[in-house]
Amino acid sequence: MSAAAESAASSNGPGFAAPDVPSDAIINTCVHCGLCLPNCPTYRELYREPSSPRGRIQLIRNVAEGRIGIDSPIFREQMYQCLDCRACEAVCPSGVQYGQLVETARAQIERAVPRPIWQRVLRRLAFQGLFGSMPRFRAFAGLLRFYQRSGLQRLARATGLLRLVGMEQRERMLPAIDSEFLVPRGQTWTPAGPVEHRVALFAGCVMSTAYAEVDRATARVLAANGCEVVAPPSQGCCGALHVHAGLLDDGRELMRRNVEAFEALDVEAIVVNAAGCGAALKEYGHLLADDPTYAARAAAVAAKVKDVTEYLCSIDLTPPGGRVEQTVTYQEPCHLAHAQRVKTPPRQLLRAIPGLRLVEMAESDLCCGSAGIYNLTQPELSAALRRRKVEHALATDATTIVSANPGCMLQLQAGLAEAGRPIAVKHVVELLDEAYRAGSAPAAK
Ligand code: SF4
Ligand code: SF4
Repeated sequence: MSAAAESAASSNGPGFAAPDVPSDAIINTCVHCGLCLPNCPTYRELYREPSSPRGRIQLIRNVAEGRIGIDSPIFREQMYQCLDCRACEAVCPSGVQYGQLVETARAQIERAVPRPIWQRVLRRLAFQGLFGSMPRFRAFAGLLRFYQRSGLQRLARATGLLRLVGMEQRERMLPAIDSEFLVPRGQTWTPAGPVEHRVALFAGCVMSTAYAEVDRATARVLAANGCEVVAPPSQGCCGALHVHAGLLDDGRELMRRNVEAFEALDVEAIVVNAAGCGAALKEYGHLLADDPTYAARAAAVAAKVKDVTEYLCSIDLTPPGGRVEQTVTYQEPCHLAHAQRVKTPPRQLLRAIPGLRLVEMAESDLCCGSAGIYNLTQPELSAALRRRKVEHALATDATTIVSANPGCMLQLQAGLAEAGRPIAVKHVVELLDEAYRAGSAPAAK
Protein backbone atom coordinates (compact mmCIF):
# COMPACT_ATOMS: atom_id res chain seq x y z
CA MET A 1 0.00 0.00 0.00
CA SER A 2 1.30 3.49 -0.82
CA ALA A 3 2.22 5.87 2.00
CA ALA A 4 -0.69 8.13 1.11
CA ALA A 5 -3.10 5.22 1.12
CA GLU A 6 -1.74 3.94 4.42
CA SER A 7 -2.23 7.27 6.08
CA ALA A 8 -5.70 7.60 4.54
CA ALA A 9 -6.63 4.08 5.65
CA SER A 10 -5.55 4.67 9.22
CA SER A 11 -7.43 7.94 9.51
CA ASN A 12 -11.16 8.59 9.55
CA GLY A 13 -10.80 10.93 6.59
CA PRO A 14 -10.81 10.04 2.90
CA GLY A 15 -9.34 6.73 1.78
CA PHE A 16 -9.94 3.08 2.44
CA ALA A 17 -9.85 1.29 5.76
CA ALA A 18 -9.09 -2.40 6.38
CA PRO A 19 -10.42 -5.01 5.89
CA ASP A 20 -11.05 -5.55 2.15
CA VAL A 21 -8.97 -2.62 0.92
CA PRO A 22 -8.67 -2.49 -2.91
CA SER A 23 -5.21 -3.86 -3.58
CA ASP A 24 -2.49 -1.35 -4.47
CA ALA A 25 -0.67 -4.12 -6.29
CA ILE A 26 -3.67 -4.63 -8.59
CA ILE A 27 -4.18 -0.89 -9.10
CA ASN A 28 -0.54 -0.49 -10.06
CA THR A 29 -0.74 -3.32 -12.60
CA CYS A 30 -2.86 -1.11 -14.87
CA VAL A 31 -0.62 0.55 -17.46
CA HIS A 32 -3.46 2.76 -18.80
CA CYS A 33 -3.18 1.25 -22.28
CA GLY A 34 -6.94 1.47 -22.88
CA LEU A 35 -7.18 -1.90 -24.64
CA CYS A 36 -10.07 -2.83 -22.35
CA LEU A 37 -12.21 0.16 -23.32
CA PRO A 38 -13.85 -1.29 -26.47
CA ASN A 39 -14.86 -4.38 -24.48
CA CYS A 40 -16.54 -2.49 -21.65
CA PRO A 41 -20.35 -2.40 -22.06
CA THR A 42 -20.82 0.85 -20.11
CA TYR A 43 -18.07 2.59 -22.09
CA ARG A 44 -19.63 1.38 -25.33
CA GLU A 45 -22.97 2.82 -24.30
CA LEU A 46 -21.73 6.13 -22.84
CA TYR A 47 -18.27 6.85 -24.34
CA ARG A 48 -17.06 8.58 -21.15
CA GLU A 49 -13.66 7.88 -19.60
CA PRO A 50 -15.03 7.57 -16.01
CA SER A 51 -17.44 4.89 -17.30
CA SER A 52 -14.53 2.78 -18.54
CA PRO A 53 -12.38 0.23 -16.66
CA ARG A 54 -9.34 2.53 -16.88
CA GLY A 55 -11.37 5.48 -15.60
CA ARG A 56 -12.75 3.45 -12.71
CA ILE A 57 -9.31 2.16 -11.71
CA GLN A 58 -8.11 5.77 -11.65
CA LEU A 59 -11.04 6.72 -9.41
CA ILE A 60 -10.15 3.88 -7.01
CA ARG A 61 -6.54 5.12 -7.02
CA ASN A 62 -7.73 8.66 -6.33
CA VAL A 63 -9.62 7.49 -3.24
CA ALA A 64 -6.73 5.27 -2.10
CA GLU A 65 -4.35 8.22 -2.34
CA GLY A 66 -6.75 10.65 -0.66
CA ARG A 67 -7.34 12.90 -3.70
CA ILE A 68 -11.11 12.35 -3.50
CA GLY A 69 -13.28 11.07 -0.67
CA ILE A 70 -14.90 7.66 -0.55
CA ASP A 71 -18.23 9.51 -0.46
CA SER A 72 -17.42 11.40 -3.66
CA PRO A 73 -20.51 11.20 -5.95
CA ILE A 74 -18.51 10.28 -9.07
CA PHE A 75 -16.71 7.47 -7.23
CA ARG A 76 -19.93 6.01 -5.86
CA GLU A 77 -21.72 6.43 -9.19
CA GLN A 78 -19.01 4.64 -11.13
CA MET A 79 -18.49 1.78 -8.71
CA TYR A 80 -22.18 0.93 -9.09
CA GLN A 81 -22.54 1.80 -12.76
CA CYS A 82 -19.96 -0.91 -13.48
CA LEU A 83 -21.63 -4.25 -14.22
CA ASP A 84 -18.79 -6.28 -12.66
CA CYS A 85 -19.00 -8.26 -15.91
CA ARG A 86 -15.22 -8.63 -16.01
CA ALA A 87 -14.98 -8.26 -19.79
CA CYS A 88 -12.11 -5.84 -19.12
CA GLU A 89 -10.27 -8.44 -17.05
CA ALA A 90 -10.47 -11.05 -19.81
CA VAL A 91 -8.76 -8.81 -22.39
CA CYS A 92 -6.29 -6.93 -20.18
CA PRO A 93 -2.70 -7.63 -21.32
CA SER A 94 -1.37 -6.73 -17.86
CA GLY A 95 -3.65 -9.17 -16.07
CA VAL A 96 -5.43 -6.55 -13.92
CA GLN A 97 -7.81 -8.42 -11.60
CA TYR A 98 -10.47 -5.81 -11.97
CA GLY A 99 -13.28 -7.83 -10.32
CA GLN A 100 -11.44 -7.83 -6.99
CA LEU A 101 -10.92 -4.07 -7.22
CA VAL A 102 -14.55 -3.14 -7.83
CA GLU A 103 -15.92 -5.66 -5.31
CA THR A 104 -13.66 -4.41 -2.51
CA ALA A 105 -14.34 -0.78 -3.50
CA ARG A 106 -18.07 -1.46 -3.12
CA ALA A 107 -17.47 -3.10 0.28
CA GLN A 108 -15.62 0.05 1.34
CA ILE A 109 -18.51 2.27 0.24
CA GLU A 110 -21.09 0.12 2.02
CA ARG A 111 -19.16 0.33 5.28
CA ALA A 112 -18.25 4.03 5.10
CA VAL A 113 -21.27 5.70 3.49
CA PRO A 114 -24.62 4.96 5.16
CA ARG A 115 -27.55 4.38 2.81
CA PRO A 116 -31.00 5.90 3.48
CA ILE A 117 -32.94 3.89 6.06
CA TRP A 118 -35.45 2.46 3.54
CA GLN A 119 -32.63 1.09 1.41
CA ARG A 120 -30.96 -0.46 4.45
CA VAL A 121 -34.20 -2.16 5.44
CA LEU A 122 -34.87 -3.43 1.91
CA ARG A 123 -31.32 -4.70 1.44
CA ARG A 124 -31.37 -6.45 4.81
CA LEU A 125 -34.69 -8.11 3.97
CA ALA A 126 -33.44 -9.28 0.59
CA PHE A 127 -29.81 -10.21 1.23
CA GLN A 128 -30.07 -11.57 4.77
CA GLY A 129 -33.78 -12.39 5.06
CA LEU A 130 -34.25 -14.16 1.72
CA PHE A 131 -30.91 -15.11 0.20
CA GLY A 132 -29.56 -15.92 3.68
CA SER A 133 -32.02 -18.76 4.27
CA MET A 134 -33.18 -21.26 1.65
CA PRO A 135 -36.38 -22.21 3.54
CA ARG A 136 -37.37 -18.52 3.60
CA PHE A 137 -36.28 -18.10 -0.03
CA ARG A 138 -38.45 -21.05 -1.08
CA ALA A 139 -41.40 -19.74 0.97
CA PHE A 140 -41.06 -16.37 -0.80
CA ALA A 141 -40.79 -18.09 -4.20
CA GLY A 142 -43.96 -20.05 -3.32
CA LEU A 143 -45.83 -16.79 -2.62
CA LEU A 144 -44.58 -15.39 -5.90
CA ARG A 145 -45.83 -18.49 -7.71
CA PHE A 146 -49.24 -18.04 -6.07
CA TYR A 147 -49.28 -14.39 -7.22
CA GLN A 148 -48.40 -15.46 -10.77
CA ARG A 149 -50.85 -18.35 -11.05
CA SER A 150 -53.86 -17.26 -9.00
CA GLY A 151 -54.87 -14.44 -11.35
CA LEU A 152 -53.52 -11.73 -9.03
CA GLN A 153 -50.73 -10.88 -11.46
CA ARG A 154 -53.18 -10.52 -14.36
CA LEU A 155 -55.38 -8.31 -12.19
CA ALA A 156 -52.50 -6.12 -11.02
CA ARG A 157 -51.34 -5.65 -14.61
CA ALA A 158 -54.81 -5.06 -16.08
CA THR A 159 -55.93 -2.52 -13.49
CA GLY A 160 -52.79 -0.39 -13.87
CA LEU A 161 -52.03 -0.85 -10.17
CA LEU A 162 -48.39 -1.70 -10.89
CA ARG A 163 -47.99 1.47 -12.99
CA LEU A 164 -49.55 3.50 -10.19
CA VAL A 165 -46.98 2.33 -7.66
CA GLY A 166 -44.10 2.63 -10.14
CA MET A 167 -43.48 -1.14 -10.25
CA GLU A 168 -44.56 -1.97 -13.81
CA GLN A 169 -41.10 -2.45 -15.30
CA ARG A 170 -39.61 -4.15 -12.25
CA GLU A 171 -42.53 -6.57 -11.94
CA ARG A 172 -41.94 -7.70 -15.53
CA MET A 173 -38.45 -8.83 -14.51
CA LEU A 174 -39.79 -11.39 -12.02
CA PRO A 175 -39.00 -14.97 -12.99
CA ALA A 176 -41.90 -17.34 -13.68
CA ILE A 177 -41.57 -19.71 -10.75
CA ASP A 178 -41.31 -23.44 -11.55
CA SER A 179 -44.14 -25.80 -10.46
CA GLU A 180 -41.85 -27.95 -8.36
CA PHE A 181 -38.69 -26.71 -6.61
CA LEU A 182 -35.56 -28.79 -6.42
CA VAL A 183 -34.85 -29.07 -2.70
CA PRO A 184 -31.40 -30.60 -2.02
CA ARG A 185 -31.95 -33.33 0.57
CA GLY A 186 -29.03 -35.63 -0.14
CA GLN A 187 -30.93 -37.29 -3.02
CA THR A 188 -28.95 -39.02 -5.76
CA TRP A 189 -29.42 -39.60 -9.47
CA THR A 190 -27.75 -42.77 -10.76
CA PRO A 191 -26.82 -43.78 -14.30
CA ALA A 192 -28.56 -46.72 -15.97
CA GLY A 193 -25.15 -48.25 -16.69
CA PRO A 194 -22.03 -48.48 -14.53
CA VAL A 195 -21.06 -45.52 -12.30
CA GLU A 196 -18.00 -43.91 -13.90
CA HIS A 197 -17.94 -40.63 -12.00
CA ARG A 198 -19.31 -39.26 -8.76
CA VAL A 199 -20.22 -35.57 -8.64
CA ALA A 200 -22.16 -33.15 -6.45
CA LEU A 201 -24.83 -30.81 -7.81
CA PHE A 202 -24.84 -27.20 -6.66
CA ALA A 203 -28.56 -26.41 -6.96
CA GLY A 204 -28.47 -22.60 -6.45
CA CYS A 205 -31.24 -20.40 -5.06
CA VAL A 206 -32.85 -18.85 -8.16
CA MET A 207 -32.02 -21.92 -10.27
CA SER A 208 -33.62 -24.39 -7.82
CA THR A 209 -36.86 -22.39 -7.63
CA ALA A 210 -37.45 -20.33 -10.80
CA TYR A 211 -35.59 -22.77 -13.05
CA ALA A 212 -35.80 -25.99 -11.04
CA GLU A 213 -36.31 -27.93 -14.27
CA VAL A 214 -32.80 -26.84 -15.36
CA ASP A 215 -31.42 -28.40 -12.17
CA ARG A 216 -33.31 -31.63 -12.87
CA ALA A 217 -32.12 -31.60 -16.51
CA THR A 218 -28.54 -31.10 -15.29
CA ALA A 219 -28.78 -34.14 -13.01
CA ARG A 220 -30.30 -36.27 -15.80
CA VAL A 221 -27.65 -35.21 -18.34
CA LEU A 222 -24.87 -35.98 -15.86
CA ALA A 223 -26.44 -39.38 -15.12
CA ALA A 224 -26.70 -40.07 -18.86
CA ASN A 225 -22.92 -39.53 -18.87
CA GLY A 226 -22.16 -42.16 -16.26
CA CYS A 227 -22.27 -39.84 -13.23
CA GLU A 228 -23.78 -40.60 -9.89
CA VAL A 229 -25.05 -37.19 -8.80
CA VAL A 230 -25.69 -36.17 -5.21
CA ALA A 231 -27.41 -32.94 -4.06
CA PRO A 232 -26.10 -32.41 -0.53
CA PRO A 233 -28.50 -30.89 2.01
CA SER A 234 -27.73 -27.62 3.82
CA GLN A 235 -26.21 -26.04 0.68
CA GLY A 236 -27.63 -22.60 -0.09
CA CYS A 237 -27.10 -19.37 -1.98
CA CYS A 238 -23.45 -19.04 -3.11
CA GLY A 239 -23.10 -15.43 -1.90
CA ALA A 240 -22.29 -13.97 -5.35
CA LEU A 241 -25.06 -11.37 -5.14
CA HIS A 242 -23.74 -10.25 -1.75
CA VAL A 243 -20.19 -9.92 -3.06
CA HIS A 244 -21.40 -7.88 -6.04
CA ALA A 245 -23.46 -5.66 -3.74
CA GLY A 246 -20.47 -4.89 -1.49
CA LEU A 247 -21.78 -7.08 1.34
CA LEU A 248 -18.68 -9.22 1.63
CA ASP A 249 -19.21 -10.23 5.26
CA ASP A 250 -22.76 -11.45 4.58
CA GLY A 251 -21.52 -13.29 1.50
CA ARG A 252 -18.77 -14.98 3.51
CA GLU A 253 -21.34 -16.36 5.98
CA LEU A 254 -23.05 -18.15 3.09
CA MET A 255 -19.72 -19.35 1.70
CA ARG A 256 -18.79 -20.97 5.02
CA ARG A 257 -22.10 -22.85 5.02
CA ASN A 258 -21.48 -24.14 1.51
CA VAL A 259 -17.95 -25.19 2.39
CA GLU A 260 -19.41 -27.26 5.24
CA ALA A 261 -22.07 -28.72 2.94
CA PHE A 262 -19.62 -29.88 0.25
CA GLU A 263 -16.23 -30.48 1.86
CA ALA A 264 -16.78 -34.00 3.20
CA LEU A 265 -18.21 -35.41 -0.04
CA ASP A 266 -16.22 -37.98 -1.93
CA VAL A 267 -16.81 -36.45 -5.37
CA GLU A 268 -14.53 -35.57 -8.26
CA ALA A 269 -16.37 -32.33 -9.08
CA ILE A 270 -18.96 -29.90 -7.75
CA VAL A 271 -21.03 -29.18 -10.82
CA VAL A 272 -22.74 -25.80 -11.23
CA ASN A 273 -25.19 -24.75 -13.95
CA ALA A 274 -25.40 -21.03 -13.08
CA ALA A 275 -22.41 -19.05 -14.38
CA GLY A 276 -22.60 -16.40 -11.65
CA CYS A 277 -22.64 -19.02 -8.89
CA GLY A 278 -19.82 -20.99 -10.51
CA ALA A 279 -17.60 -17.92 -10.74
CA ALA A 280 -18.19 -17.12 -7.05
CA LEU A 281 -17.69 -20.72 -5.90
CA LYS A 282 -14.39 -20.91 -7.79
CA GLU A 283 -13.25 -17.83 -5.85
CA TYR A 284 -14.12 -19.10 -2.36
CA GLY A 285 -10.44 -19.71 -1.61
CA HIS A 286 -9.58 -16.10 -2.32
CA LEU A 287 -12.70 -14.68 -0.63
CA LEU A 288 -12.09 -16.64 2.60
CA ALA A 289 -8.29 -16.35 2.49
CA ASP A 290 -8.19 -14.29 5.69
CA ASP A 291 -10.31 -16.74 7.68
CA PRO A 292 -7.88 -19.12 9.42
CA THR A 293 -10.60 -21.73 10.05
CA TYR A 294 -11.96 -21.82 6.52
CA ALA A 295 -9.21 -20.65 4.13
CA ALA A 296 -7.74 -24.06 3.23
CA ARG A 297 -11.14 -25.79 3.30
CA ALA A 298 -12.64 -23.14 1.01
CA ALA A 299 -9.72 -23.46 -1.42
CA ALA A 300 -10.19 -27.26 -1.50
CA VAL A 301 -13.92 -26.91 -2.27
CA ALA A 302 -13.26 -24.21 -4.89
CA ALA A 303 -10.74 -26.44 -6.67
CA LYS A 304 -13.49 -28.98 -7.40
CA VAL A 305 -16.00 -26.50 -8.87
CA LYS A 306 -16.80 -26.89 -12.56
CA ASP A 307 -19.43 -25.35 -14.76
CA VAL A 308 -21.63 -28.15 -16.11
CA THR A 309 -20.55 -27.45 -19.71
CA GLU A 310 -16.88 -27.45 -18.70
CA TYR A 311 -17.31 -30.72 -16.79
CA LEU A 312 -19.18 -32.53 -19.57
CA CYS A 313 -16.48 -31.57 -22.07
CA SER A 314 -13.79 -32.84 -19.69
CA ILE A 315 -15.20 -36.39 -19.65
CA ASP A 316 -16.00 -38.73 -22.49
CA LEU A 317 -19.36 -37.27 -23.58
CA THR A 318 -22.05 -39.84 -24.37
CA PRO A 319 -23.27 -38.80 -27.84
CA PRO A 320 -26.93 -37.72 -27.58
CA GLY A 321 -29.08 -40.19 -29.50
CA GLY A 322 -32.11 -38.03 -30.29
CA ARG A 323 -32.49 -35.13 -32.68
CA VAL A 324 -33.40 -31.59 -31.70
CA GLU A 325 -34.38 -29.85 -34.92
CA GLN A 326 -33.81 -26.24 -33.89
CA THR A 327 -31.74 -23.26 -34.89
CA VAL A 328 -30.27 -21.66 -31.79
CA THR A 329 -27.98 -18.78 -30.94
CA TYR A 330 -25.80 -18.67 -27.84
CA GLN A 331 -25.65 -15.71 -25.44
CA GLU A 332 -22.49 -15.97 -23.35
CA PRO A 333 -22.93 -15.23 -19.65
CA CYS A 334 -20.18 -12.82 -18.54
CA HIS A 335 -19.37 -14.91 -15.51
CA LEU A 336 -18.81 -17.93 -17.72
CA ALA A 337 -16.98 -16.29 -20.63
CA HIS A 338 -14.96 -13.65 -18.76
CA ALA A 339 -14.76 -14.66 -15.09
CA GLN A 340 -14.36 -18.41 -15.69
CA ARG A 341 -12.99 -18.13 -19.27
CA VAL A 342 -15.29 -20.95 -20.41
CA LYS A 343 -16.20 -20.09 -24.01
CA THR A 344 -15.85 -23.22 -26.13
CA PRO A 345 -17.59 -25.98 -24.08
CA PRO A 346 -21.19 -24.65 -24.36
CA ARG A 347 -20.80 -24.39 -28.14
CA GLN A 348 -19.12 -27.80 -28.32
CA LEU A 349 -22.07 -29.39 -26.49
CA LEU A 350 -24.64 -27.63 -28.66
CA ARG A 351 -22.83 -28.80 -31.80
CA ALA A 352 -22.90 -32.36 -30.45
CA ILE A 353 -26.72 -32.41 -30.57
CA PRO A 354 -27.97 -34.06 -33.77
CA GLY A 355 -30.27 -31.83 -35.82
CA LEU A 356 -29.38 -28.65 -33.91
CA ARG A 357 -27.94 -25.72 -35.84
CA LEU A 358 -25.92 -23.12 -33.93
CA VAL A 359 -25.72 -19.64 -35.44
CA GLU A 360 -23.61 -16.91 -33.84
CA MET A 361 -25.08 -13.57 -32.89
CA ALA A 362 -23.01 -10.37 -32.92
CA GLU A 363 -21.42 -9.40 -29.59
CA SER A 364 -22.42 -12.70 -27.96
CA ASP A 365 -20.02 -12.02 -25.06
CA LEU A 366 -21.18 -8.45 -24.36
CA CYS A 367 -23.13 -8.21 -21.10
CA CYS A 368 -26.93 -8.44 -21.50
CA GLY A 369 -27.39 -5.95 -18.63
CA SER A 370 -28.64 -8.43 -16.05
CA ALA A 371 -25.56 -8.48 -13.76
CA GLY A 372 -27.08 -9.52 -10.45
CA ILE A 373 -29.45 -6.75 -9.35
CA TYR A 374 -28.19 -4.27 -11.98
CA ASN A 375 -31.57 -4.28 -13.75
CA LEU A 376 -33.06 -2.94 -10.50
CA THR A 377 -30.31 -0.49 -9.55
CA GLN A 378 -29.45 0.86 -13.03
CA PRO A 379 -32.68 0.30 -15.00
CA GLU A 380 -31.85 2.59 -17.94
CA LEU A 381 -28.42 1.20 -18.77
CA SER A 382 -29.66 -2.30 -18.12
CA ALA A 383 -32.54 -1.78 -20.55
CA ALA A 384 -30.20 -0.34 -23.21
CA LEU A 385 -27.93 -3.40 -22.97
CA ARG A 386 -30.95 -5.72 -22.97
CA ARG A 387 -32.31 -4.14 -26.17
CA ARG A 388 -28.88 -4.35 -27.81
CA LYS A 389 -28.62 -8.05 -26.95
CA VAL A 390 -32.15 -8.87 -28.12
CA GLU A 391 -31.60 -7.00 -31.41
CA HIS A 392 -28.49 -9.07 -32.09
CA ALA A 393 -30.25 -12.31 -31.22
CA LEU A 394 -33.27 -11.49 -33.39
CA ALA A 395 -31.02 -10.53 -36.29
CA THR A 396 -30.16 -14.24 -36.58
CA ASP A 397 -32.70 -16.81 -37.76
CA ALA A 398 -32.57 -18.60 -34.40
CA THR A 399 -35.83 -19.82 -32.90
CA THR A 400 -34.27 -20.35 -29.47
CA ILE A 401 -31.73 -18.32 -27.51
CA VAL A 402 -29.47 -20.43 -25.34
CA SER A 403 -27.57 -19.29 -22.29
CA ALA A 404 -26.10 -20.76 -19.11
CA ASN A 405 -27.09 -18.44 -16.27
CA PRO A 406 -30.50 -17.72 -14.72
CA GLY A 407 -29.96 -13.94 -14.62
CA CYS A 408 -29.21 -13.82 -18.36
CA MET A 409 -32.17 -16.08 -19.13
CA LEU A 410 -34.50 -13.77 -17.20
CA GLN A 411 -33.10 -10.69 -18.88
CA LEU A 412 -33.48 -12.26 -22.33
CA GLN A 413 -37.05 -13.34 -21.63
CA ALA A 414 -37.93 -9.81 -20.48
CA GLY A 415 -36.21 -8.28 -23.53
CA LEU A 416 -37.97 -10.59 -25.97
CA ALA A 417 -41.37 -9.88 -24.36
CA GLU A 418 -40.60 -6.16 -24.58
CA ALA A 419 -39.79 -6.57 -28.28
CA GLY A 420 -43.01 -8.52 -28.86
CA ARG A 421 -41.02 -11.60 -29.98
CA PRO A 422 -41.31 -14.11 -27.13
CA ILE A 423 -39.17 -16.86 -28.67
CA ALA A 424 -37.82 -19.60 -26.41
CA VAL A 425 -34.92 -19.06 -24.02
CA LYS A 426 -33.20 -22.22 -22.78
CA HIS A 427 -30.19 -23.42 -20.86
CA VAL A 428 -27.60 -25.51 -22.73
CA VAL A 429 -28.38 -28.56 -20.57
CA GLU A 430 -32.10 -28.37 -21.35
CA LEU A 431 -31.35 -28.96 -25.03
CA LEU A 432 -28.89 -31.75 -24.22
CA ASP A 433 -31.51 -33.33 -21.96
CA GLU A 434 -34.08 -33.15 -24.79
CA ALA A 435 -31.63 -34.91 -27.09
CA TYR A 436 -30.89 -37.66 -24.56
CA ARG A 437 -34.57 -38.17 -23.80
CA ALA A 438 -35.48 -38.28 -27.47
CA GLY A 439 -32.77 -40.80 -28.23
CA SER A 440 -31.63 -44.16 -27.06
CA ALA A 441 -28.84 -43.04 -24.73
CA PRO A 442 -29.14 -44.64 -21.30
CA ALA A 443 -31.55 -42.59 -19.23
CA ALA A 444 -31.16 -41.71 -15.59
CA LYS A 445 -33.06 -43.89 -13.15
S1 SF4 B 1 -7.11 -2.41 -17.12
FE1 SF4 B 1 -5.63 -3.47 -18.42
S2 SF4 B 1 -6.38 -3.13 -20.52
FE2 SF4 B 1 -7.41 -1.64 -19.19
S3 SF4 B 1 -6.14 0.20 -19.29
FE3 SF4 B 1 -5.43 -0.97 -17.51
S4 SF4 B 1 -3.77 -2.26 -18.28
FE4 SF4 B 1 -4.87 -1.49 -20.08
S1 SF4 C 1 -16.40 -5.05 -15.20
FE1 SF4 C 1 -17.52 -4.73 -17.14
S2 SF4 C 1 -18.65 -2.82 -16.87
FE2 SF4 C 1 -17.11 -2.91 -15.23
S3 SF4 C 1 -15.36 -1.79 -16.06
FE3 SF4 C 1 -15.01 -3.95 -16.57
S4 SF4 C 1 -15.89 -4.23 -18.61
FE4 SF4 C 1 -16.70 -2.29 -17.79
